[in-house]
Amino acid sequence: ATEKSLNFIEQIIENDLESGKYNGRVLTRFPPEPNGYLHIGHAKSICLNFGVAQKYGGQTNLRFDDTNPATEDTEYVESIKNDVQWLGFNWANEFYASDYFDQLYEFAKKLIRKGLAYVDDSTSEEMAAMKGTPVEPGINSPYRNRSIEENMALFEQMKNGAFAEGTHVLRAKIDMASTNMLMRDPIIYRIKFAKHHRTGDKWCIYPMYDFAHGQSDSIEGITHSICTLEFVPHRELYDWCIENLEIFPSKQYEFARLNLTYTVMSKRKLLQLVNEGHVSGWDDPRMPTISGLRRRGYTPEAIRDFCERIGVAKRDNLISVGLLEFCIREHLNKTADRVMAVLDPVKVVITNYPEGKSEILTTENNPEDPEGGTRNVPFSREIYIEKEDFLENPPKKYFRLAPGQMVRLKSAYIVRCDEVIKDENGEILELHCSYIENSKSGQDTSGISVKGTIHWVSIANAIEAEVRLYDRLFKVEDPSNEEGDFKEYINNDSLETITAYVEPSLKEATAGTKYQFLRKGYFCLDKESTTNKLVFNRTVGLKDTWAK
Ligand code: ATP
Ligand code: MG
Ligand code: MG
Repeated sequence: ATEKSLNFIEQIIENDLESGKYNGRVLTRFPPEPNGYLHIGHAKSICLNFGVAQKYGGQTNLRFDDTNPATEDTEYVESIKNDVQWLGFNWANEFYASDYFDQLYEFAKKLIRKGLAYVDDSTSEEMAAMKGTPVEPGINSPYRNRSIEENMALFEQMKNGAFAEGTHVLRAKIDMASTNMLMRDPIIYRIKFAKHHRTGDKWCIYPMYDFAHGQSDSIEGITHSICTLEFVPHRELYDWCIENLEIFPSKQYEFARLNLTYTVMSKRKLLQLVNEGHVSGWDDPRMPTISGLRRRGYTPEAIRDFCERIGVAKRDNLISVGLLEFCIREHLNKTADRVMAVLDPVKVVITNYPEGKSEILTTENNPEDPEGGTRNVPFSREIYIEKEDFLENPPKKYFRLAPGQMVRLKSAYIVRCDEVIKDENGEILELHCSYIENSKSGQDTSGISVKGTIHWVSIANAIEAEVRLYDRLFKVEDPSNEEGDFKEYINNDSLETITAYVEPSLKEATAGTKYQFLRKGYFCLDKESTTNKLVFNRTVGLKDTWAK
């Protein structure tokens, strides 16, 4: 086996362990904002944060980054915990940034006392005008040189609800000429009269991201704070706060976000798809959310494998959704039981098979799994096969059914097509076939060799099932990078619902079990399935379209 080379985060950790930087300790965190459901991009971050900690004997905290009261909800908190566990990870601690509000308030006062923060009464328009541009320095606010006492009193009044929203903010006093715009006296506290999902009405001032995230890392003693590239410009402020507050020196490292073809990944956009009814909910099987993928039939193993294969990039890129499909196919090929289902039926009558007779045949559950066992499938005179497995005028090398041509029925007999029965419009009604009696699979003495094997179901025994076939939710590779609104690029044919005929063993199908419908793809029971009406989702087709 070839030793996998370290990714750059692992390299940093190994260097830190070697130099004894954090006394050999590794503590990471996964910090979702509870304003939506987790998606496959979050899975990447989860696998990375939990993965490196596991690898180096460390731990990972789950921290809800819930400092923005307006958009957050406990429904999201529950779904996030469920998804992280489902992916196979256990956090050391469950924390909430909102639990640090008191501490963060004290931190803010410490900066004021050090002369490093001030209350600004400017409007947001005035502040924007004074901010300057990337090539021009900004202008100091007229409130910048308030005394420490005045700032302390005003900040306390802000906290006590004396001022209206938008009238006052607390700003860090750094450098209005910095080449990093985020260092030009960033706002660190704002007034917001909003009910918080955990702290209720206790606060009417809330810390900004840059005055909460690094501080939360530091409070928890996080050693390696891994985030995505858009936070690179924030790192200077992250370090400035930690240094000036004289608190535990957590360090921020950035990697490239995961972007997938034919997918949007921002929670804001996913929320729009849900709210505007383009999908049935956060767990619609077409959604790139963890809950959508789970309902679609993805396994945690496949998602983890995918995250491993894409590696940890330092530059933004667009990963083919075909790779994700490849990973689920790989896993299900090894683990899914094979069953027979006909999705687009044509009736076959086996004219020389006695009427009223039926027999039980045995078939293997999974040729990839020696311990997969066998099951029974009933066979009788009338069966369904796929329409596409019959051609009236077949090209050369078409090894399925055609007039006068023979094919094997999986785990059953060889049949020959004798007659095509049509209606007055020329539509095929049924095929009349004859079977070769001594050609039964496993005990075939017919001496006939046929090249094709097709699947089938016995009509008398088959169960009708609703089958949902999914296609990509978007028509273009990178919907977020197209002109206009991303919703103009929605694929209106992304869901096709059909009625299929499935073998009777599927009456016992259970949620969570994965099946390969022979020759048709991988399927699983949908949550809307009932004993009276089976509903299956197609996870993915069989054909690998992803070029390795
Ligand atoms: P979104 O843009 O979807 O709203 P976010 O970054 O605002 O994402 P958070 O809940 O703040 O969502 O994310 C939690 C963690 O997951 C963060 O560390 C974030 O960097 C990471 N993360 C989010 N999206 C991706 C992605 N596409 N690829 C990798 N990591 C991601
Ligand atoms: Mg975020
Ligand atoms: Mg976001």
